[in-house]
Amino acid sequence: MTAPETIRANAKPLQAGEIDSGKIQTILLGRLLAGGITAQIPLLVAAALMGFAVIGIGTEMLMWTLIAVQFCLQAIVSIINNALRGKLAAGDSTRILFAAYVALETLSGAVWGLMMLPVTAVLGQGLGPLFVCLTLIVTITISAMINASVRILSIGVIVGFIATLLPQTIYFYEILGPLPLIATLLLPPSLLWMTDLQSKQARAALLNELEKEYLAFHLEEALKQSEYLAKHDSLTGLLNRRAFQLKLAEHRALDPDTDISFILIDLDHFKQINDSFGHETGDAVLVATAELVKSITRPSDLSARFDEATARWGGEEFIIALTGCPIDAAAAVSERLRARLANLRHPLWPEGLNVTGSFGVAVWSPSQDLASGIAKADRAMYQAKIAGRNRVEMASS
Ligand code: GH3
Ligand code: MG
Ligand code: MG
Repeated sequence: MTAPETIRANAKPLQAGEIDSGKIQTILLGRLLAGGITAQIPLLVAAALMGFAVIGIGTEMLMWTLIAVQFCLQAIVSIINNALRGKLAAGDSTRILFAAYVALETLSGAVWGLMMLPVTAVLGQGLGPLFVCLTLIVTITISAMINASVRILSIGVIVGFIATLLPQTIYFYEILGPLPLIATLLLPPSLLWMTDLQSKQARAALLNELEKEYLAFHLEEALKQSEYLAKHDSLTGLLNRRAFQLKLAEHRALDPDTDISFILIDLDHFKQINDSFGHETGDAVLVATAELVKSITRPSDLSARFDEATARWGGEEFIIALTGCPIDAAAAVSERLRARLANLRHPLWPEGLNVTGSFGVAVWSPSQDLASGIAKADRAMYQAKIAGRNRVEMASS
């Protein structure tokens, strides 16, 4: 298990300002586009019905022409929608296409407004004009609401609609009186208010979703980190004593009949290293020794492919377990390690700093408990100390 790169145990809820508003806009646009123009289909059906509603009024041709234009516009919107989705997916700039999309939605709003023209002069005369009028108001409301999550689009639809409707209510004021004009003037603020609410809700929902993702991500990271810290020594990155013991228990359970060799290493006169060169240098020596210990797990360092586990056993003590490795082979590994430790140098280390270690090697046989196996290696290491340090001793049995 490698150390997680960052420690962020204090994952905190995401604040609105912490998410780039451009990113929110892009996600909302992506979701709006993903819906395609299927949401517009009922509106186009309603548009077709308006053609039948004006039959007999004398403006059928104008109405059918506008319906055809609306259909063509929606076809182009659909093409741009696809192209925009492609750009978003590729992470390319969408500025020009998006501007075209807004312009087309505005134009579409304007055509919806123009579709009132065939009936404006005859409003109030029969059901056909009333149907057209109500259908258009519902249509423009739905159209604005569909696009509300990307505010500029719904504003475009509303502006386009009012831009063509308002002149009609002014032009036919003599016939229609003030009511249609007032209704037309009241429409934009109420539509803008509704779409604003909708847009805020969409943003809040998205923010909530992103916040959950953020927390889940950091929680997972924090869990990984705490799992790592629970098993590893923070200075050297080696397993700690408890994790090492658990790992050996696993080894044993997997392969109950195999001997496991232990190499216990205790650095010589380490207290003096601390006292003479400082605690930081002492730490650096521990890290370098751990690197050396880890390096024996590399296949190139072993004559055979042993399963291995290495740990920081105590302050300046390290332990290696070699599964299925006879004691002579473990002693040979120890001897190589001892020589390399004695020759360990680092450009930043002070003059006169020499590191050596005493090595105890023992076999942990299947009949013994773990503590006895390690105690044998410890006794052998102690023998190495007594015998003058910087040497390898094997346990007798
Ligand atoms: P011996 O050859 O008999 O083993 O002598 P020694 O000085 O190595 O042994 P001793 O047990 O007297 O001292 C071990 C020292 O290791 C004491 C302690 O301050 C130091 N030590 C333990 N953990 C750390 C550590 O994380 N960093 C540093 N710099 N020193 C440590
Ligand atoms: Mg010691
Ligand atoms: Mg020591």
